[in-house]
Amino acid sequence: MSAAAPPSPGPEAVGEMVQEATAWCALHGLVVGDRADPRSGTVPGVGLVHAPFSLFPTHLPESCWRQACELAPIFNELVDRVSLDGDFLQDSLSKTKQVDDFTSRLLEIHRKMMEINKEENIRLGLHRSDYMLDSETNSLLQIELNTISASFPGLGSLVSELHRTLIDRYGNLFCLDSKRVPENAATSRFAEALARAWDEFNVDRKTLSEVEAEGHLLPDGTLVVDGRTVSVVYFRAGYTPNDYPSETEWTARLLMEQSSAVKCPSISYHLVGTKKIQQELAKPNVLERFLENKEEIAKIRKCFAGLWSLDDEEIVKSAIQNPELFVLKPQREGGGNNIYGLDVRETLIRLQKEGGDALAAYILMQRIFPKASLANLVRGGVCHEALTISELGIYGAYLRNKGKVVMNEQSGYLMRTKVSSSDEGGVAAGFAVLDSLYLT
Ligand code: ADP
Ligand code: MG
Ligand code: MG
Repeated sequence: MSAAAPPSPGPEAVGEMVQEATAWCALHGLVVGDRADPRSGTVPGVGLVHAPFSLFPTHLPESCWRQACELAPIFNELVDRVSLDGDFLQDSLSKTKQVDDFTSRLLEIHRKMMEINKEENIRLGLHRSDYMLDSETNSLLQIELNTISASFPGLGSLVSELHRTLIDRYGNLFCLDSKRVPENAATSRFAEALARAWDEFNVDRKTLSEVEAEGHLLPDGTLVVDGRTVSVVYFRAGYTPNDYPSETEWTARLLMEQSSAVKCPSISYHLVGTKKIQQELAKPNVLERFLENKEEIAKIRKCFAGLWSLDDEEIVKSAIQNPELFVLKPQREGGGNNIYGLDVRETLIRLQKEGGDALAAYILMQRIFPKASLANLVRGGVCHEALTISELGIYGAYLRNKGKVVMNEQSGYLMRTKVSSSDEGGVAAGFAVLDSLYLT
């Protein structure tokens, strides 16, 4: 992320480190499903390969690191406040709804909850706010805020550990100190937040005699205690239209939303994480509706990149003129959905011709240009040196029970590094590798 010169080990040292690192991955579970193996994902423990990773952590100025960490609890609180303003969510997304069926279905569930005055006393957020360091202004700018299925807390923690191990072993060669790779407790912090949500829910635990009276065993040995209460629903899916192939999935989503279980995320938290809301919050005087503390507002605003709704004709015009300065984003998650470069121009012209509200499905964002640096990317046991850029994600855990904030903290981090010529950044989507950071 920074201009600091990357370490430049010779090919022999790299070869040895790659062997050491990939073996470490296998031993410590830094692995993912191997798409090349047809049985992967169907037979547990079969068809695994080390997760793609960067051999060295990416350099990052300590001041940026601190800034990003400080923002985590403020964004957590902001999400919570915005989630309580149902009208704001409905109004902000009203045009998007006309042209985006997926967002419309989510809003429909949200509207039903508003109609029955559904209150969520216990609110759990496991978020990840992503940033890039803009090379022109040297400022840390937010890419997006993920409020559903924020990925890789587990693997991210492991990559930090891998880098510390490698530096302890080889770092002397490159004058590196493993203490400069910050601790990354994302796994345990998120696990703690989930456990504490369960705790707040406070389901009476069954006594032995109740289990004896109410429980029974299925032929395969499963113990079923009647009316078993679910306390926490964690969504690891449900953030793309593909996760809802039929009405059944939407019915299930509605059912869970109607329940008293703690949802991570609730429909409101989910909607707060849309790109449209990110853009609405960046408008003048909108943050002030949700936060009182002027310093916190200033800190948040400082990390906002340029964001525009497409009913701003001037900005659409300049995006058509200089498409390379913008990213065009639909209301989607998971990587691979954004539009870049000349496609921005083409899409805007086409949408303008289509007329109506077609443009409302998208937002425009200032394109951020991080400084590129050389990195060693390891994929499938093979190491490539490439010019790369990085994206820092900071996890945040938030748990609230009515008036009481039980947890609100920065909960570890994730660095993702990709070849600088690639527009998109998803690891699962195959664009980026997992990384950690080295404070400079
Ligand atoms: P998603 O929810 O699909 O992850 P993002 O907004 O994070 O959507 O965009 C996906 C990727 O596109 C990011 O990880 C980043 O690599 C790239 N990207 C997004 N916005 C910008 C931007 N404003 N400038 C430069 N790259 C961007
Ligand atoms: Mg996202
Ligand atoms: Mg993203």
